[in-house]
Amino acid sequence: MVSLGSSVDRDVEEGFCKHYVAGQWCEPEVNEWFDVTNSSTGEVVARTPLSSLTDIEPAIQAAAEAFPQWAETSVSERVRILYNYKKLLEENLDHLARTIVIENGKTLDEARAELCRGIEVVELACATPMLIKGQTLDNVRGIDYQTTRCPLGVCAGIGAFNFPFMIPHWMFPVALACGNTFVFKPSHQTPLTTLAFAPLLEKAGLPPGVFNVVHGAKRAVDALQAHPLVRAVSFVGSTAVSQYVYRTGSANGKRVQAEGGAKNHFVVMPDAPIDRVVREIVSGAFGSAGARCMATSTVVLVGGAGDKLVAPLRQAAAELRVGRTDTDTVVDMGPLVSAEHKKRVVAYIERGQEEGAELILDGRDVYVPGAPRGFFLGPTLFDYVRPEHTIAREEIFGPVLSIMHMDTLDEAIAQINQSPYGNAVCIYTRDAQAARRFRNRVNVGMVGINVGVPAPAAFFSFAGWKASFFGDLHVQGTECSAFYTQEKVISTRWI
Ligand code: NAD
Repeated sequence: MVSLGSSVDRDVEEGFCKHYVAGQWCEPEVNEWFDVTNSSTGEVVARTPLSSLTDIEPAIQAAAEAFPQWAETSVSERVRILYNYKKLLEENLDHLARTIVIENGKTLDEARAELCRGIEVVELACATPMLIKGQTLDNVRGIDYQTTRCPLGVCAGIGAFNFPFMIPHWMFPVALACGNTFVFKPSHQTPLTTLAFAPLLEKAGLPPGVFNVVHGAKRAVDALQAHPLVRAVSFVGSTAVSQYVYRTGSANGKRVQAEGGAKNHFVVMPDAPIDRVVREIVSGAFGSAGARCMATSTVVLVGGAGDKLVAPLRQAAAELRVGRTDTDTVVDMGPLVSAEHKKRVVAYIERGQEEGAELILDGRDVYVPGAPRGFFLGPTLFDYVRPEHTIAREEIFGPVLSIMHMDTLDEAIAQINQSPYGNAVCIYTRDAQAARRFRNRVNVGMVGINVGVPAPAAFFSFAGWKASFFGDLHVQGTECSAFYTQEKVISTRWI
Protein backbone atom coordinates (compact mmCIF):
# COMPACT_ATOMS: atom_id res chain seq x y z
CA MET A 1 0.00 0.00 0.00
CA VAL A 2 1.36 3.44 -0.89
CA SER A 3 1.16 6.72 0.95
CA LEU A 4 -1.68 8.99 -0.06
CA GLY A 5 0.23 12.14 0.74
CA SER A 6 0.36 13.52 4.25
CA SER A 7 -2.95 15.39 4.17
CA VAL A 8 -4.94 12.31 3.13
CA ASP A 9 -2.97 9.84 5.28
CA ARG A 10 -4.16 11.47 8.47
CA ASP A 11 -7.67 10.01 7.99
CA VAL A 12 -6.72 6.42 7.27
CA GLU A 13 -4.29 4.76 9.61
CA GLU A 14 -2.25 2.15 7.71
CA GLY A 15 -4.76 2.31 4.88
CA PHE A 16 -7.48 0.28 6.60
CA CYS A 17 -10.75 2.20 6.75
CA LYS A 18 -12.51 2.17 10.10
CA HIS A 19 -16.14 2.70 10.98
CA TYR A 20 -17.01 5.96 12.71
CA VAL A 21 -19.45 5.27 15.52
CA ALA A 22 -20.53 7.66 18.27
CA GLY A 23 -17.54 9.88 17.54
CA GLN A 24 -15.00 7.02 17.81
CA TRP A 25 -13.04 5.15 15.14
CA CYS A 26 -13.93 1.44 15.38
CA GLU A 27 -11.95 -1.51 14.03
CA PRO A 28 -14.05 -3.56 11.63
CA GLU A 29 -14.24 -7.27 12.33
CA VAL A 30 -14.28 -8.60 8.78
CA ASN A 31 -12.30 -11.05 6.67
CA GLU A 32 -12.95 -9.40 3.34
CA TRP A 33 -11.55 -6.08 2.17
CA PHE A 34 -11.92 -4.11 -1.07
CA ASP A 35 -8.84 -2.38 -2.53
CA VAL A 36 -9.25 1.37 -3.05
CA THR A 37 -6.90 2.62 -5.73
CA ASN A 38 -5.33 5.90 -6.76
CA SER A 39 -7.04 6.06 -10.17
CA SER A 40 -4.09 7.88 -11.74
CA THR A 41 -1.51 5.24 -10.83
CA GLY A 42 -3.48 2.09 -10.07
CA GLU A 43 -1.74 1.79 -6.70
CA VAL A 44 -3.71 0.52 -3.71
CA VAL A 45 -4.09 3.39 -1.25
CA ALA A 46 -6.63 2.01 1.24
CA ARG A 47 -8.85 -0.95 2.01
CA THR A 48 -12.59 -0.89 2.60
CA PRO A 49 -13.98 -3.48 5.01
CA LEU A 50 -16.82 -5.41 3.37
CA SER A 51 -18.98 -5.43 6.46
CA SER A 52 -22.17 -7.22 7.33
CA LEU A 53 -24.83 -6.70 9.99
CA THR A 54 -22.63 -7.50 13.02
CA ASP A 55 -20.28 -4.70 12.08
CA ILE A 56 -23.00 -2.23 11.27
CA GLU A 57 -25.21 -2.84 14.29
CA PRO A 58 -23.20 -0.60 16.70
CA ALA A 59 -23.59 2.39 14.35
CA ILE A 60 -27.34 1.92 14.11
CA GLN A 61 -27.59 1.50 17.90
CA ALA A 62 -25.49 4.62 18.45
CA ALA A 63 -27.74 6.60 16.09
CA ALA A 64 -30.86 5.26 17.86
CA GLU A 65 -29.48 6.21 21.30
CA ALA A 66 -28.55 9.70 20.15
CA PHE A 67 -31.93 10.34 18.54
CA PRO A 68 -34.22 11.37 21.46
CA GLN A 69 -31.90 14.12 22.71
CA TRP A 70 -31.03 15.36 19.21
CA ALA A 71 -34.70 15.48 18.23
CA GLU A 72 -35.39 17.61 21.31
CA THR A 73 -32.54 20.00 20.58
CA SER A 74 -34.07 23.16 19.14
CA VAL A 75 -33.90 23.46 15.37
CA SER A 76 -32.00 26.74 15.62
CA GLU A 77 -29.33 25.04 17.74
CA ARG A 78 -29.10 22.13 15.27
CA VAL A 79 -28.68 24.54 12.41
CA ARG A 80 -26.04 26.57 14.28
CA ILE A 81 -23.86 23.43 14.34
CA LEU A 82 -24.26 23.17 10.57
CA TYR A 83 -23.10 26.78 10.18
CA ASN A 84 -19.95 25.83 12.13
CA TYR A 85 -19.58 22.74 9.94
CA LYS A 86 -19.79 24.81 6.75
CA LYS A 87 -16.98 27.03 8.03
CA LEU A 88 -14.84 23.97 8.83
CA LEU A 89 -15.49 22.55 5.37
CA GLU A 90 -14.27 25.79 3.82
CA GLU A 91 -11.13 25.71 5.98
CA ASN A 92 -10.46 22.12 4.88
CA LEU A 93 -11.30 22.50 1.18
CA ASP A 94 -7.85 21.66 -0.07
CA HIS A 95 -7.56 18.47 1.96
CA LEU A 96 -11.05 17.34 0.93
CA ALA A 97 -10.45 18.15 -2.73
CA ARG A 98 -7.18 16.22 -2.81
CA THR A 99 -8.85 13.22 -1.19
CA ILE A 100 -11.54 13.21 -3.91
CA VAL A 101 -8.84 13.48 -6.58
CA ILE A 102 -6.93 10.47 -5.25
CA GLU A 103 -9.78 8.03 -4.80
CA ASN A 104 -12.03 9.13 -7.66
CA GLY A 105 -9.61 10.44 -10.30
CA LYS A 106 -11.34 13.80 -10.90
CA THR A 107 -9.26 16.89 -11.63
CA LEU A 108 -8.67 19.26 -8.73
CA ASP A 109 -11.04 21.82 -10.30
CA GLU A 110 -13.77 19.20 -10.65
CA ALA A 111 -13.24 18.14 -7.03
CA ARG A 112 -13.51 21.79 -5.89
CA ALA A 113 -16.71 22.22 -7.93
CA GLU A 114 -18.13 19.12 -6.25
CA LEU A 115 -17.29 20.56 -2.83
CA CYS A 116 -19.09 23.81 -3.69
CA ARG A 117 -22.19 21.85 -4.69
CA GLY A 118 -22.17 19.89 -1.44
CA ILE A 119 -21.61 23.00 0.67
CA GLU A 120 -24.59 24.61 -1.05
CA VAL A 121 -26.76 21.84 0.40
CA VAL A 122 -25.38 22.58 3.88
CA GLU A 123 -26.55 26.17 3.26
CA LEU A 124 -29.96 24.81 2.30
CA ALA A 125 -30.04 22.76 5.51
CA CYS A 126 -29.32 25.94 7.47
CA ALA A 127 -32.69 27.21 6.18
CA THR A 128 -34.50 24.25 7.78
CA PRO A 129 -36.38 26.39 10.34
CA MET A 130 -38.08 28.05 7.36
CA LEU A 131 -38.62 24.73 5.56
CA ILE A 132 -40.28 22.79 8.38
CA LYS A 133 -42.45 25.56 9.79
CA GLY A 134 -46.02 24.33 10.22
CA GLN A 135 -49.37 25.83 9.32
CA THR A 136 -52.28 26.93 11.45
CA LEU A 137 -55.94 27.53 10.81
CA ASP A 138 -58.06 28.87 13.64
CA ASN A 139 -61.68 28.13 14.37
CA VAL A 140 -62.85 25.44 12.02
CA ARG A 141 -66.20 24.80 13.71
CA GLY A 142 -64.66 25.82 17.05
CA ILE A 143 -61.37 23.93 16.68
CA ASP A 144 -57.91 25.43 15.99
CA TYR A 145 -55.63 23.33 13.78
CA GLN A 146 -51.84 23.32 13.73
CA THR A 147 -49.33 21.20 11.82
CA THR A 148 -45.79 20.44 12.85
CA ARG A 149 -43.10 18.42 11.05
CA CYS A 150 -41.39 15.77 13.22
CA PRO A 151 -38.16 13.86 12.57
CA LEU A 152 -38.36 10.17 11.63
CA GLY A 153 -35.55 8.69 13.74
CA VAL A 154 -32.50 6.86 12.36
CA CYS A 155 -31.99 7.53 8.64
CA ALA A 156 -29.48 5.72 6.43
CA GLY A 157 -27.65 6.97 3.34
CA ILE A 158 -25.82 4.93 0.69
CA GLY A 159 -23.56 6.68 -1.83
CA ALA A 160 -22.22 6.09 -5.34
CA PHE A 161 -18.53 6.41 -6.20
CA ASN A 162 -18.73 9.38 -8.54
CA PHE A 163 -19.50 12.22 -6.10
CA PRO A 164 -18.01 11.06 -2.79
CA PHE A 165 -18.64 14.46 -1.16
CA MET A 166 -21.76 15.87 -2.81
CA ILE A 167 -23.89 12.72 -2.57
CA PRO A 168 -23.72 12.31 1.23
CA HIS A 169 -24.35 16.05 1.50
CA TRP A 170 -27.57 15.64 -0.52
CA MET A 171 -28.69 13.54 2.43
CA PHE A 172 -27.43 14.05 5.95
CA PRO A 173 -27.27 17.87 6.45
CA VAL A 174 -31.02 18.23 5.89
CA ALA A 175 -31.77 14.99 7.75
CA LEU A 176 -29.81 16.21 10.79
CA ALA A 177 -31.28 19.71 10.67
CA CYS A 178 -34.74 18.11 10.74
CA GLY A 179 -33.80 16.29 13.98
CA ASN A 180 -32.90 12.81 12.67
CA THR A 181 -29.72 10.86 13.34
CA PHE A 182 -27.79 9.28 10.49
CA VAL A 183 -25.73 6.29 9.37
CA PHE A 184 -23.90 6.82 6.07
CA LYS A 185 -22.28 4.11 3.96
CA PRO A 186 -20.02 5.52 1.23
CA SER A 187 -19.30 3.60 -1.96
CA HIS A 188 -16.82 0.83 -1.23
CA GLN A 189 -14.77 2.32 -4.10
CA THR A 190 -14.46 5.82 -2.58
CA PRO A 191 -14.67 5.68 1.24
CA LEU A 192 -11.89 8.18 2.02
CA THR A 193 -13.71 11.46 1.43
CA THR A 194 -16.36 10.51 4.00
CA LEU A 195 -13.64 9.69 6.51
CA ALA A 196 -12.19 13.14 5.88
CA PHE A 197 -15.38 15.12 6.56
CA ALA A 198 -16.96 12.99 9.34
CA PRO A 199 -14.73 14.26 12.20
CA LEU A 200 -15.43 17.87 11.16
CA LEU A 201 -19.06 17.40 12.21
CA GLU A 202 -18.04 16.56 15.76
CA LYS A 203 -15.60 19.47 15.75
CA ALA A 204 -18.52 21.69 14.71
CA GLY A 205 -20.38 20.63 17.86
CA LEU A 206 -22.45 17.64 16.70
CA PRO A 207 -23.04 15.27 19.65
CA PRO A 208 -21.53 11.77 19.30
CA GLY A 209 -23.83 9.23 17.62
CA VAL A 210 -25.80 11.77 15.60
CA PHE A 211 -23.72 11.02 12.47
CA ASN A 212 -22.02 7.66 11.95
CA VAL A 213 -20.14 5.98 9.11
CA VAL A 214 -20.07 2.31 8.15
CA HIS A 215 -18.36 0.62 5.22
CA GLY A 216 -19.12 -2.19 2.83
CA ALA A 217 -21.03 -3.08 -0.32
CA LYS A 218 -24.09 -5.30 -0.88
CA ARG A 219 -24.09 -7.00 2.55
CA ALA A 220 -23.86 -3.65 4.31
CA VAL A 221 -26.67 -2.20 2.19
CA ASP A 222 -28.86 -5.23 2.89
CA ALA A 223 -28.20 -4.92 6.62
CA LEU A 224 -29.12 -1.23 6.65
CA GLN A 225 -32.35 -1.65 4.78
CA ALA A 226 -33.49 -4.67 6.77
CA HIS A 227 -32.79 -3.13 10.19
CA PRO A 228 -35.95 -2.37 12.18
CA LEU A 229 -34.46 0.80 13.70
CA VAL A 230 -33.77 2.40 10.30
CA ARG A 231 -36.76 4.52 9.28
CA ALA A 232 -35.64 5.94 5.93
CA VAL A 233 -33.08 5.10 3.26
CA SER A 234 -31.56 7.53 0.74
CA PHE A 235 -29.68 5.83 -2.08
CA VAL A 236 -27.65 6.94 -5.10
CA GLY A 237 -26.26 4.47 -7.63
CA SER A 238 -26.98 2.46 -10.76
CA THR A 239 -30.56 1.75 -11.82
CA ALA A 240 -30.42 -1.99 -11.09
CA VAL A 241 -29.24 -1.49 -7.51
CA SER A 242 -31.44 1.57 -7.02
CA GLN A 243 -34.55 -0.36 -7.97
CA TYR A 244 -33.48 -3.23 -5.71
CA VAL A 245 -32.97 -0.86 -2.77
CA TYR A 246 -36.32 0.82 -3.42
CA ARG A 247 -38.17 -2.49 -3.54
CA THR A 248 -36.44 -4.06 -0.55
CA GLY A 249 -36.48 -0.94 1.60
CA SER A 250 -40.16 -0.30 0.87
CA ALA A 251 -41.04 -3.94 1.54
CA ASN A 252 -39.32 -3.54 4.93
CA GLY A 253 -41.53 -0.54 5.70
CA LYS A 254 -38.95 2.19 5.14
CA ARG A 255 -39.36 5.49 3.39
CA VAL A 256 -37.01 5.30 0.36
CA GLN A 257 -35.64 7.78 -2.14
CA ALA A 258 -33.38 6.07 -4.68
CA GLU A 259 -31.55 7.88 -7.48
CA GLY A 260 -30.59 5.69 -10.44
CA GLY A 261 -28.70 5.79 -13.73
CA ALA A 262 -29.13 8.06 -16.73
CA LYS A 263 -28.83 8.50 -20.49
CA ASN A 264 -28.91 12.23 -21.13
CA HIS A 265 -29.57 13.83 -24.53
CA PHE A 266 -28.34 17.20 -25.79
CA VAL A 267 -30.45 18.49 -28.68
CA VAL A 268 -28.93 21.05 -31.03
CA MET A 269 -31.23 23.06 -33.30
CA PRO A 270 -29.88 24.60 -36.54
CA ASP A 271 -29.88 28.13 -35.06
CA ALA A 272 -27.70 27.23 -32.05
CA PRO A 273 -24.41 29.19 -31.62
CA ILE A 274 -21.77 26.63 -32.63
CA ASP A 275 -18.79 27.72 -30.51
CA ARG A 276 -20.82 27.85 -27.37
CA VAL A 277 -22.54 24.54 -28.06
CA VAL A 278 -19.22 22.82 -28.71
CA ARG A 279 -17.83 24.09 -25.40
CA GLU A 280 -20.92 22.93 -23.50
CA ILE A 281 -21.04 19.50 -25.13
CA VAL A 282 -17.35 18.85 -24.48
CA SER A 283 -17.73 19.87 -20.86
CA GLY A 284 -20.98 17.89 -20.44
CA ALA A 285 -19.66 14.73 -22.07
CA PHE A 286 -16.07 14.60 -20.83
CA GLY A 287 -16.21 16.40 -17.46
CA SER A 288 -15.31 13.91 -14.68
CA ALA A 289 -14.39 11.52 -17.53
CA GLY A 290 -18.09 11.13 -18.33
CA ALA A 291 -18.81 9.53 -14.95
CA ARG A 292 -21.66 11.82 -13.94
CA CYS A 293 -25.35 11.04 -13.82
CA MET A 294 -25.80 14.43 -15.54
CA ALA A 295 -23.23 13.65 -18.26
CA THR A 296 -24.16 14.42 -21.84
CA SER A 297 -24.09 11.00 -23.45
CA THR A 298 -25.96 11.57 -26.73
CA VAL A 299 -26.00 14.63 -28.96
CA VAL A 300 -29.01 14.87 -31.27
CA LEU A 301 -28.37 17.19 -34.20
CA VAL A 302 -31.63 18.40 -35.72
CA GLY A 303 -32.31 19.66 -39.25
CA GLY A 304 -28.75 19.66 -40.56
CA ALA A 305 -27.15 21.18 -37.41
CA GLY A 306 -24.45 18.52 -37.81
CA ASP A 307 -23.02 20.04 -40.98
CA LYS A 308 -21.33 22.78 -38.97
CA LEU A 309 -20.89 21.03 -35.66
CA VAL A 310 -19.32 17.59 -35.97
CA ALA A 311 -15.86 18.71 -37.16
CA PRO A 312 -15.29 21.39 -34.46
CA LEU A 313 -16.71 19.06 -31.81
CA ARG A 314 -14.30 16.32 -32.79
CA GLN A 315 -11.40 18.77 -32.76
CA ALA A 316 -12.28 20.22 -29.35
CA ALA A 317 -12.63 16.72 -27.87
CA ALA A 318 -9.32 15.61 -29.37
CA GLU A 319 -7.54 18.64 -27.86
CA LEU A 320 -8.51 17.79 -24.27
CA ARG A 321 -5.44 17.10 -22.16
CA VAL A 322 -5.86 13.72 -20.48
CA GLY A 323 -3.52 12.98 -17.60
CA ARG A 324 -2.73 12.32 -13.98
CA THR A 325 -4.79 14.35 -11.59
CA ASP A 326 -2.68 13.50 -8.53
CA THR A 327 0.24 15.71 -9.59
CA ASP A 328 0.51 19.43 -10.34
CA THR A 329 0.29 18.90 -14.12
CA VAL A 330 -2.61 20.84 -15.61
CA VAL A 331 -5.08 18.46 -17.25
CA ASP A 332 -8.65 18.69 -18.56
CA MET A 333 -9.64 15.09 -17.95
CA GLY A 334 -8.51 12.46 -15.46
CA PRO A 335 -8.76 8.69 -15.31
CA LEU A 336 -11.78 6.47 -14.69
CA VAL A 337 -12.28 5.25 -11.15
CA SER A 338 -11.01 1.67 -11.55
CA ALA A 339 -9.58 -0.91 -13.94
CA GLU A 340 -12.90 -2.74 -13.87
CA HIS A 341 -14.86 0.36 -14.81
CA LYS A 342 -12.44 1.13 -17.66
CA LYS A 343 -12.89 -2.41 -18.97
CA ARG A 344 -16.66 -1.93 -18.96
CA VAL A 345 -16.45 1.35 -20.90
CA VAL A 346 -14.02 -0.14 -23.43
CA ALA A 347 -16.47 -3.00 -24.00
CA TYR A 348 -19.11 -0.42 -24.96
CA ILE A 349 -16.72 1.14 -27.50
CA GLU A 350 -16.13 -2.30 -29.04
CA ARG A 351 -19.87 -2.90 -29.15
CA GLY A 352 -20.44 0.45 -30.89
CA GLN A 353 -17.98 -0.53 -33.62
CA GLU A 354 -19.43 -4.02 -34.02
CA GLU A 355 -22.95 -2.63 -34.39
CA GLY A 356 -21.91 -0.18 -37.10
CA ALA A 357 -21.65 3.26 -35.47
CA GLU A 358 -18.87 5.39 -36.99
CA LEU A 359 -15.95 5.80 -34.56
CA ILE A 360 -14.55 9.26 -35.36
CA LEU A 361 -12.38 9.67 -32.24
CA ASP A 362 -10.93 6.71 -30.36
CA GLY A 363 -9.78 7.28 -26.77
CA ARG A 364 -8.46 3.77 -26.25
CA ASP A 365 -4.93 4.60 -27.37
CA VAL A 366 -4.45 7.55 -25.04
CA TYR A 367 -0.93 7.69 -23.58
CA VAL A 368 -0.23 9.27 -20.21
CA PRO A 369 3.48 9.60 -19.41
CA GLY A 370 4.58 8.29 -16.03
CA ALA A 371 1.30 6.49 -15.32
CA PRO A 372 1.29 3.19 -17.18
CA ARG A 373 -1.14 1.59 -14.71
CA GLY A 374 -3.63 4.46 -14.42
CA PHE A 375 -7.20 3.90 -15.65
CA PHE A 376 -7.09 6.39 -18.52
CA LEU A 377 -9.35 6.54 -21.51
CA GLY A 378 -9.36 9.48 -23.91
CA PRO A 379 -12.45 11.23 -25.28
CA THR A 380 -14.29 8.95 -27.70
CA LEU A 381 -16.83 10.03 -30.32
CA PHE A 382 -19.24 7.95 -32.37
CA ASP A 383 -21.13 9.52 -35.29
CA TYR A 384 -24.25 8.19 -37.05
CA VAL A 385 -25.41 6.33 -33.95
CA ARG A 386 -28.86 4.82 -34.45
CA PRO A 387 -31.58 4.33 -31.80
CA GLU A 388 -31.17 0.55 -31.82
CA HIS A 389 -27.41 0.65 -31.07
CA THR A 390 -26.45 -0.47 -27.58
CA ILE A 391 -24.42 2.72 -27.05
CA ALA A 392 -27.58 4.76 -27.76
CA ARG A 393 -29.65 2.83 -25.23
CA GLU A 394 -27.48 1.97 -22.24
CA GLU A 395 -25.66 4.11 -19.71
CA ILE A 396 -21.91 3.97 -20.41
CA PHE A 397 -20.68 6.27 -17.61
CA GLY A 398 -17.40 7.07 -19.35
CA PRO A 399 -15.96 9.55 -21.87
CA VAL A 400 -17.91 8.18 -24.84
CA LEU A 401 -20.24 10.49 -26.75
CA SER A 402 -22.77 9.37 -29.38
CA ILE A 403 -23.95 11.66 -32.17
CA MET A 404 -27.33 11.13 -33.81
CA HIS A 405 -28.85 13.06 -36.73
CA MET A 406 -32.60 13.70 -36.95
CA ASP A 407 -34.74 15.71 -39.36
CA THR A 408 -37.17 17.26 -36.90
CA LEU A 409 -37.48 18.29 -33.27
CA ASP A 410 -40.40 15.89 -32.84
CA GLU A 411 -38.15 12.98 -33.85
CA ALA A 412 -35.61 14.10 -31.26
CA ILE A 413 -38.32 14.31 -28.60
CA ALA A 414 -39.53 10.82 -29.52
CA GLN A 415 -35.96 9.48 -29.23
CA ILE A 416 -35.64 11.01 -25.74
CA ASN A 417 -39.02 9.75 -24.57
CA GLN A 418 -38.47 6.16 -25.67
CA SER A 419 -35.45 5.89 -23.33
CA PRO A 420 -36.10 3.98 -20.12
CA TYR A 421 -34.20 6.75 -18.33
CA GLY A 422 -35.44 10.29 -17.69
CA ASN A 423 -32.74 12.07 -15.75
CA ALA A 424 -31.63 15.19 -17.65
CA VAL A 425 -31.92 16.72 -21.10
CA CYS A 426 -30.92 19.93 -22.85
CA ILE A 427 -31.95 21.85 -25.95
CA TYR A 428 -29.83 24.55 -27.53
CA THR A 429 -31.77 27.09 -29.61
CA ARG A 430 -32.85 30.73 -29.83
CA ASP A 431 -36.26 29.64 -31.11
CA ALA A 432 -38.61 30.17 -28.17
CA GLN A 433 -41.41 28.08 -29.68
CA ALA A 434 -39.09 25.11 -30.21
CA ALA A 435 -37.73 25.44 -26.66
CA ARG A 436 -41.24 25.64 -25.20
CA ARG A 437 -42.48 22.65 -27.18
CA PHE A 438 -39.43 20.68 -26.07
CA ARG A 439 -39.76 21.69 -22.40
CA ASN A 440 -43.40 20.64 -22.31
CA ARG A 441 -43.08 17.33 -24.17
CA VAL A 442 -39.96 15.63 -22.81
CA ASN A 443 -40.59 13.03 -20.09
CA VAL A 444 -37.49 13.96 -18.13
CA GLY A 445 -36.99 15.30 -14.61
CA MET A 446 -34.35 17.98 -15.21
CA VAL A 447 -34.54 20.09 -18.38
CA GLY A 448 -31.97 22.60 -19.63
CA ILE A 449 -32.79 25.31 -22.14
CA ASN A 450 -29.40 26.50 -23.35
CA VAL A 451 -27.95 24.93 -20.18
CA GLY A 452 -25.88 21.87 -21.08
CA VAL A 453 -25.78 20.24 -17.65
CA PRO A 454 -29.04 21.30 -15.96
CA ALA A 455 -28.09 20.29 -12.40
CA PRO A 456 -30.39 22.47 -10.28
CA ALA A 457 -29.06 24.64 -7.46
CA ALA A 458 -29.63 23.12 -4.02
CA PHE A 459 -32.76 25.23 -3.47
CA PHE A 460 -34.55 23.13 -6.12
CA SER A 461 -35.10 19.41 -6.08
CA PHE A 462 -32.73 17.07 -7.91
CA ALA A 463 -34.02 13.85 -9.47
CA GLY A 464 -34.85 12.20 -12.73
CA TRP A 465 -37.98 10.40 -13.84
CA LYS A 466 -38.63 6.79 -14.93
CA ALA A 467 -35.66 4.44 -14.33
CA SER A 468 -33.56 7.36 -13.05
CA PHE A 469 -35.41 7.67 -9.75
CA PHE A 470 -37.47 5.43 -7.49
CA GLY A 471 -39.53 7.03 -4.76
CA ASP A 472 -41.66 10.12 -4.32
CA LEU A 473 -39.71 12.86 -2.58
CA HIS A 474 -36.49 14.05 -4.21
CA VAL A 475 -33.18 15.18 -2.76
CA GLN A 476 -32.52 18.94 -2.33
CA GLY A 477 -35.14 21.70 -2.49
CA THR A 478 -38.21 21.66 -0.29
CA GLU A 479 -38.86 17.97 -0.98
CA CYS A 480 -35.89 16.75 1.03
CA SER A 481 -37.11 18.22 4.31
CA ALA A 482 -40.48 16.61 3.57
CA PHE A 483 -38.67 13.29 3.03
CA TYR A 484 -36.88 13.49 6.38
CA THR A 485 -39.95 14.51 8.42
CA GLN A 486 -43.48 13.36 9.08
CA GLU A 487 -46.37 15.72 9.63
CA LYS A 488 -48.37 15.83 12.85
CA VAL A 489 -51.73 17.62 12.95
CA ILE A 490 -52.87 19.05 16.29
CA SER A 491 -56.56 19.90 16.81
CA THR A 492 -57.22 22.16 19.80
CA ARG A 493 -60.48 23.16 21.41
CA TRP A 494 -60.02 25.85 24.09
CA ILE A 495 -62.28 25.06 27.06
P1 NAD B 1 -23.58 1.11 -7.80
O1 NAD B 1 -25.02 0.89 -7.98
O2 NAD B 1 -22.63 0.08 -8.26
O3 NAD B 1 -23.23 1.34 -6.23
C1 NAD B 1 -23.95 2.28 -5.47
C2 NAD B 1 -23.91 1.88 -4.00
O4 NAD B 1 -24.53 0.60 -3.83
C3 NAD B 1 -22.52 1.74 -3.44
O5 NAD B 1 -22.51 2.23 -2.12
C4 NAD B 1 -22.23 0.24 -3.47
O6 NAD B 1 -21.34 -0.14 -2.45
C5 NAD B 1 -23.61 -0.35 -3.27
N1 NAD B 1 -23.83 -1.59 -4.02
C6 NAD B 1 -23.15 -2.04 -5.11
N2 NAD B 1 -23.69 -3.20 -5.55
C7 NAD B 1 -24.75 -3.47 -4.74
C8 NAD B 1 -25.72 -4.52 -4.69
N3 NAD B 1 -25.71 -5.52 -5.57
N4 NAD B 1 -26.66 -4.48 -3.73
C9 NAD B 1 -26.70 -3.48 -2.84
N5 NAD B 1 -25.79 -2.45 -2.85
C10 NAD B 1 -24.84 -2.45 -3.78
O7 NAD B 1 -23.27 2.55 -8.47
P2 NAD B 1 -21.85 3.25 -8.69
O8 NAD B 1 -21.11 2.50 -9.72
O9 NAD B 1 -21.21 3.51 -7.38
O10 NAD B 1 -22.31 4.67 -9.25
C11 NAD B 1 -22.59 4.92 -10.60
C12 NAD B 1 -24.07 4.93 -10.86
O11 NAD B 1 -24.72 5.87 -10.00
C13 NAD B 1 -24.41 5.38 -12.28
O12 NAD B 1 -25.42 4.55 -12.78
C14 NAD B 1 -24.91 6.79 -12.10
O13 NAD B 1 -25.79 7.25 -13.10
C15 NAD B 1 -25.58 6.70 -10.78
N6 NAD B 1 -25.71 8.01 -10.16
C16 NAD B 1 -26.95 8.58 -10.17
C17 NAD B 1 -27.12 9.83 -9.65
C18 NAD B 1 -28.47 10.47 -9.68
O14 NAD B 1 -28.67 11.49 -9.04
N7 NAD B 1 -29.43 9.93 -10.42
C19 NAD B 1 -26.02 10.52 -9.10
C20 NAD B 1 -24.78 9.90 -9.10
C21 NAD B 1 -24.63 8.63 -9.64
